[in-house]
Amino acid sequence: MTKNVHHWIGGKTVEGTSGQWGPVTDPATGEITTRVALASAAEVGTAVAAAKAAFATWGTSSLAQRTAVLFRYRALLDAHRDELAALITAEHGKVHSDALGEVARGLEIVELACGITTQLKGELSTQVSQRVDVAAIRQPLGVVAGITPFNFPAMVPMWMFPLAVACGNTFVLKPSEKDPSAANRLAELAAEAGLPDGVLNVVHGDKTAVDALLEHPDVAAVSFVGSTPIARYIHRKATEHGKRVQALGGAKNHMLVLPDADLDAAADAAVSAAYGSAGERCMAISAVVAVGSVGDALVEKIRERAEKIKIGPGTDPESEMGPLITAAHRDKVASYVTGAADEGCEVVLDGTGYTVDGHENGHWIGLSLLDRVPTTAKAYQDEIFGPVLCVLRAETYEEGVALINASPFGNGTAIFTRDGGAARRFQLEVQAGMVGVNVPIPVPVGYHSFGGWKDSLFGDHHIYGNDGVHFYTRGKVVTTRWPDPSEAPAGIDLGFPR
Ligand code: NAD
Repeated sequence: MTKNVHHWIGGKTVEGTSGQWGPVTDPATGEITTRVALASAAEVGTAVAAAKAAFATWGTSSLAQRTAVLFRYRALLDAHRDELAALITAEHGKVHSDALGEVARGLEIVELACGITTQLKGELSTQVSQRVDVAAIRQPLGVVAGITPFNFPAMVPMWMFPLAVACGNTFVLKPSEKDPSAANRLAELAAEAGLPDGVLNVVHGDKTAVDALLEHPDVAAVSFVGSTPIARYIHRKATEHGKRVQALGGAKNHMLVLPDADLDAAADAAVSAAYGSAGERCMAISAVVAVGSVGDALVEKIRERAEKIKIGPGTDPESEMGPLITAAHRDKVASYVTGAADEGCEVVLDGTGYTVDGHENGHWIGLSLLDRVPTTAKAYQDEIFGPVLCVLRAETYEEGVALINASPFGNGTAIFTRDGGAARRFQLEVQAGMVGVNVPIPVPVGYHSFGGWKDSLFGDHHIYGNDGVHFYTRGKVVTTRWPDPSEAPAGIDLGFPR
């Protein structure tokens, strides 16, 4: 029996009417468990209309009203962590503990949104001239759309809508069609927390729904997270249609290991960051750059650890790594490993052909480790988005940093060293938006902002934190003079005001 996932519009479930459906698979079994309604442009229009109608009152609601809803929402999400994590595991495949981590990182942004009162205080300068004050305020944009990827079906939507609605906007979310259920549950819980109908809407769909959002005149801004080619497309098309847009793209995150690093700690970090969530993280470490003489010892330590990782269904508490999202994606990931030797890589671990007993139709792949990877290899140049770690060798720190900076991506990066001076140099010299020093996955906490450089982000604003508040509001500066009634009017002056 498959279940159907419908849209959530105007505070209730709205059945899909386009006649188009997408399959949702349990990656651990390969079975289609669910079908998701794919919205037509007209259905997207219904969701945008609901959001526009809700903005008329939500946009002028008091901060106290908004934060009361958000505090209740926070409590409800906290109480439903396990249920949300189970929904994520059932459709994405990641292990339950990892799914719980995803919910926790999303909750951080709800907590940030609970404190929106502080963020929206504005600025006031008094007496800038005689009896003249200047106030800078920020106001909501209107209807905002969010388009999200499969790999964090709860966290990435939560990077967006809690802050957007806290700022007074209304929201239309278009989640990934590969794992759509968590988004609907997030919306139901928001309604239970008292979020008025139409403030948060969820339309499911594919390119048709996305294009309808990008072209809709009533959508003021678009937040996107996904792969680089689509991020580039979203940024161009949304900008052409006059919208504000932030589009976060893909990544190839490097970890530079200097000769003085604690190699055991570096190997632990590399294995956790490369193979966690089966490598389906935009902040996964996919390239280790070993500097000087550490390469052989480091590769050996990574191999020893990687061989012990237990692969299995995300529902099994023993599993450390689950399956990939689809069989097609698994096959694509495998192709990078099977082609690696011909491209000059040393294949230390080959995870292709792996299967799990009793779950033979799941989208399994084992852990792969490629050493001495040339920068010309496809396994290095492409974002593989699977459990494949490339190790590259560099003679010096300078060579290692130059290699990282030559990458078209600039999402996250990390340095492992005991040398504070080298770490400081790295922070300043490396071209990436998020840098870790002995921290392999430097995802900023909610009150800082998340975002990469180069082909990892199109647009000016990073997501959540202060940048998020800026993205979801526009500035207005009010200059006020209250003349003293006892004074004569200043009279006419055609000069430019000074
Ligand atoms: P994707 O780009 O295929 O899809 C993302 C969204 O875009 C989905 O909602 C999808 O329905 C929609 N979409 C897909 N093709 C489209 C098209 N042709 N036209 C319009 N819309 C389209 O990404 P994915 O495979 O779901 O997610 C994995 C990617 O996301 C990886 O590249 C990963 O690095 C990236 N990612 C980046 C970040 C970040 O913060 N930079 C975070 C998570 C994931």
